[in-house]
Amino acid sequence: MLDQMLSFTPECEPAQETTIRMPAFVAVSVDDGHSSDLMTADLLSKFGLKATFYVPRQNPERPVVEPLQMRELSTAFDVGGHTLSHTPLPDLREDGAWNEIRGCKDWLEDLLGRPATSFCYPQGKHNRQLRNLVAKAGFVGARTCQFNLNFFPRDPFQAGVSTHAFPHSVAVQVRHALLQRNFRGLHGFVTINLMTADWETHFRRVLDYVEINGGVAHLYLHSWEIQQRNEWDKLTRVFRDAARRKQIVPITNGELFSLATAKRKSLDDATLVNASFDSSRAFDGTLSKSRTGENGPATGLSLNSPD
Ligand SMILES: [Zn+2]
Repeated sequence: MLDQMLSFTPECEPAQETTIRMPAFVAVSVDDGHSSDLMTADLLSKFGLKATFYVPRQNPERPVVEPLQMRELSTAFDVGGHTLSHTPLPDLREDGAWNEIRGCKDWLEDLLGRPATSFCYPQGKHNRQLRNLVAKAGFVGARTCQFNLNFFPRDPFQAGVSTHAFPHSVAVQVRHALLQRNFRGLHGFVTINLMTADWETHFRRVLDYVEINGGVAHLYLHSWEIQQRNEWDKLTRVFRDAARRKQIVPITNGELFSLATAKRKSLDDATLVNASFDSSRAFDGTLSKSRTGENGPATGLSLNSPD
C-alpha cells in the first residue's frame, strides 16, 4: 500500500474528469516511555491507528516503563530510540553522543528482538553532526520538535511534526519557529492552523488540510502531559477524528522515514534522468533504451555516447 502511494499515480475516476490525489498520512509519536503510554496504546489500538513510542533506557525526570511492558508495546507498535539517559545530545562530546545514540539502538534491539529504526532527539535538540551520527548508527530517520510541518520530511533525519498535544500560546509558537528558523512551519501555523492555541483544533485543521492536499498529519505527545491535564477525552476525540478519515492512511515514523528516503531517491533519479536528457542534446540529440542494469536509471533511458 505504501509503495503504491509512493508512486503518486493519478487516480482516474470513472467520470470524464481526472483527479490527482496526493498521498495523505497520519502519524502519532509518543515520547519518553511513561507508564501512562499504555493508556495511549489502548486508545490507538481501539481506533486502528499506528504510532511510534520513543523510549529512553532511563529518564531522570520520571520513571520509564518496565521491559515487559515495552515488549508488549512493541508487538503492536513501532518502538524507537530516545537515547540511554534522555540527555540533550548537544551537551555531550562526540563519543558521549555516539554512546547515547548507538547504545540505545543496541539496548532496544537486545530487549525487543527486532530492529529499532526510528530515533528521536531528546528535547528535539540536534545539529548537523548529531544528524550524521544517527544515520551512521543505522537508524532510518529521526524526529525533531519542529512544529507545524505537515509535509514529507525533506531530510528523514530532521523530520518535524504538525502538532504537539499541549496548549502552546501563540507567542510561544511564533518564538519557537523564529528561534529554529522554521519559517515553513510559521507559515503553516498562520495559514493552516489559523494561529490557534488549542491543540485539538490545531490538529483537526491539519487533518482537514492533509485530507485535501496530501502530506503528513503528525501528532506528537507525552502521555504524562495528557494525564496531568486530564485530557484523555480530548485525545480520544482526536484519534476518532483521524481514524474516520478514510483518505488518510496511518503510518509509523519508521515507515514515514523509509518512504521519505525512497521519495528523495526517486527525485534524485529523476534529476539524473533530466541531466542525462540535457547531456544527450549536447552530444547527438538522441536517446536509446539501455540494456538492463547498465548505465541508465530506472526509466531505462540512457544517452548514446558519441563513440
Ligand atoms: Zn523526551
